[in-house]
Amino acid sequence: MDTANISIELHDSVKENLLFNSLSELEISKTTIFKYGILNEEVPKKIKENDFEYLESKIPFLYGLYSDFVELKAGKIISLADGEVSKRLSETIGVGVGLFYTTKLLKVNPNIIKRIPSPKTQKGKYLDFKFTKENVEYEVETKGTVYHSKLNSIIEDVQGKKRDSKTTGCKYGVITLANKEEDKKPSKIVICDDLNNKRSNKIYFLNDYFEYYNLFLSFILDSTYYNRLVAQIDRGRLRRNVIKTNNIKGEYIYNGVKYKGQYFDRRLVLDYIANYYSVDIKLNVLFKLLTNQLGRQKYFLGLDPKIIDYLNNKDVIGLRKYSQERAFIEESKKRLIRDIDGVIFVSSKSGGDNQIEKNFGENEVKERLSYILGSITNTPHECGAPCRSKEKEGKPCEKLTFREHCHFHRN
Ligand SMILES: [Zn+2]
Repeated sequence: MDTANISIELHDSVKENLLFNSLSELEISKTTIFKYGILNEEVPKKIKENDFEYLESKIPFLYGLYSDFVELKAGKIISLADGEVSKRLSETIGVGVGLFYTTKLLKVNPNIIKRIPSPKTQKGKYLDFKFTKENVEYEVETKGTVYHSKLNSIIEDVQGKKRDSKTTGCKYGVITLANKEEDKKPSKIVICDDLNNKRSNKIYFLNDYFEYYNLFLSFILDSTYYNRLVAQIDRGRLRRNVIKTNNIKGEYIYNGVKYKGQYFDRRLVLDYIANYYSVDIKLNVLFKLLTNQLGRQKYFLGLDPKIIDYLNNKDVIGLRKYSQERAFIEESKKRLIRDIDGVIFVSSKSGGDNQIEKNFGENEVKERLSYILGSITNTPHECGAPCRSKEKEGKPCEKLTFREHCHFHRN
């Protein structure tokens, strides 16, 4: 099954609140979790030349986690992973479900949701989000776990964070209790903490929208252009037409709109390439080995050209007014989400989507693999970061990588 309806439980702290009572279940799909879970990723300040391929492999890597390790069944989100994979998965499921819930409950466009920068003492944790709607400021804490018995301590944690926070926002927590394969009980989403209707007069400006769309642009734009964009924002001297659409090669047509973006393939994930790499390996051999292991799984991530026009023309009014209708396709070999914010994501398995196959054929994938081979100068080594999972706690991670650490042990 590709979607599941998960029931929503209201903790005592929100039981009486009319707003929260308006939703009793949430229909979710893998693509939705992915689209919203990605908001847990850091927006890069600058993309270094030798980080480019790593960033490019993030999309197929993350999506691969869902297609391999998440199962949706009646009323259940099942995590098939264990160890490090399980941790990473629970965390993104928590963010993905929590933020999707938020857009549904409060009818907000995800493009106004911002991460609250984490204090320096808690490096690498970005689980808090905020936004303002109709003069009310909201803060959301999202959590995800497969251990239902942890619920009370998570709620205490969320409420403690609220007390410690210096901001005046109205806060609530969305806790996603997913399942291990063998669990009989259904998954559920638990909402805790009450709103206190503090007023705020935050208005969204151009930079706020850039802050949101930059995450997607970091995967779409060439690093040189991305860095130029971020530098202009930092200097407060943003020029018109800062996003050069001619430089965005990937296109995908949906409902008559030509979305601009980037294509990805699971075989281009550096950590998978590392498994087969040897100094004298031939491109064709490597390509075949990767295809045998991973099959043909291709993706497109793109933006509505209207959004790019608004950003390029500094049209804040246009951005504030912009809202798309959500659209989904859930088929066995093809999935698609076109969201309110103008972001589109399409995945195609074994040629399930003709357009992807036509625009990003096997030769293109092979060509990109040859670029990656060309840029790899060192041999892969074991990641070595201390594992955090129960079974292997503290033991050095044995996953092969070309970077300092593998995908699980980098932020
Ligand atoms: Zn590792």
